[in-house]
Amino acid sequence: DDSHRGSLFWGSPVKLEDHESASAHVAAHDSPGEGIEACIGNTPLIKIRSLSEATGRTILAKAEFLNGAGNSPKDRVALNMIREAEAQGLLVPHRGDTIYEGTVGSTGISLATLARAKGYRAHICMPDDMAMEKSDLLLQLGATVERVTVAPITSPNHFVNLARRHAAEHSEKHRDGSQGFFANQFESEANWQAHLKSTGPEIWRQTNGELDAFVAGAGTGGTMSGVAKYLKEEQKLSTVKIVLADPQGSGLYNKVRHGVMYSPTEREGTRRRQQVDTMVEGIGITRLTQNFEAGRELIDDAVRVTDEQAFYMARWLVEHDGIFVGSSSSVNCVAAVATAMTLPPGSQVVTILCDSGSRHLSKFWKHIKEMDHTGDNEASDLFSELGIP
Ligand code: PMP
Repeated sequence: DDSHRGSLFWGSPVKLEDHESASAHVAAHDSPGEGIEACIGNTPLIKIRSLSEATGRTILAKAEFLNGAGNSPKDRVALNMIREAEAQGLLVPHRGDTIYEGTVGSTGISLATLARAKGYRAHICMPDDMAMEKSDLLLQLGATVERVTVAPITSPNHFVNLARRHAAEHSEKHRDGSQGFFANQFESEANWQAHLKSTGPEIWRQTNGELDAFVAGAGTGGTMSGVAKYLKEEQKLSTVKIVLADPQGSGLYNKVRHGVMYSPTEREGTRRRQQVDTMVEGIGITRLTQNFEAGRELIDDAVRVTDEQAFYMARWLVEHDGIFVGSSSSVNCVAAVATAMTLPPGSQVVTILCDSGSRHLSKFWKHIKEMDHTGDNEASDLFSELGIP
């Protein structure tokens, strides 16, 4: 039972006038937490000094890599999906139940960790072009892992469809009374609701409700929808701009900007490549998911970020701020800067640092290491592209 800290993470949304009682809950951190679940949520919101100075706006980032189970915002989602499944009797601890999931990595890592903590097995299906760190880590956590050849969502062998099928076939294969549970992060409401219940309220408290924009990428869309719903619907903050950060090759930018995901020629190209054409992992997608749809109407604008911009930003952040992040965090920071420059000086922009660079050493950061390094020249090119004089 992790209810003692749940007063903050799972409690009803905190209104601004409840600020005092919210800080009373924070004090509960001084007492021991119940298991690894107690390391989930309540991540710091940090000012990125170099970007704030460069833009003349305040760039704030939620350090989600500090979620201490699987080290990403997916800890919040995995915990909520498991708790909902338990409440519905779909998962029973220590019965041999297996959680099946299709994931590019982060959700699998969070599910595998919490499965260990709560008495389940985890079976993870992931595309075979993701960084090896992630599948190595999953194996160390005791999950079984299938790295699946990249296939379109219409194929029965797409990693999500494979996980769904394994879950459906579990009982037939095991015949020991254990059940299979398909977590289904892309379509499950428990995903965006985790952010509505925790990430959104935390950002609200940490900014005292004073933010002019929230900028985030979408993989499932859960973070974007949950936080946007909290700010705009629960808190009725109509002035906040919700901005999607989208990597090259994803269809979401066009959907937000122009109402369609791809032009016919782009669609054909995407079909041929069968995936989003980017080095960025975890965000950008070529289909509309329930989690994205849940909050789509709340999105005000989208920024498309090239891989090159993401490489430069990642290197800038480590060189100037000692912030070492993965590819999706870097995309978010590029889009946060671009968004900040559309707002008056002094505005506050909040974005998400999803995971650490250490999870991307063999792909994203390997590429950065191999690039020619021209020092601050490349950064001044990047910044001028983003509208900084
Ligand atoms: N960054 C990383 C590293 C991720 O793995 C994910 C989730 N796939 C995201 C960002 C995007 O989060 P969401 O699924 O809530 O859109």
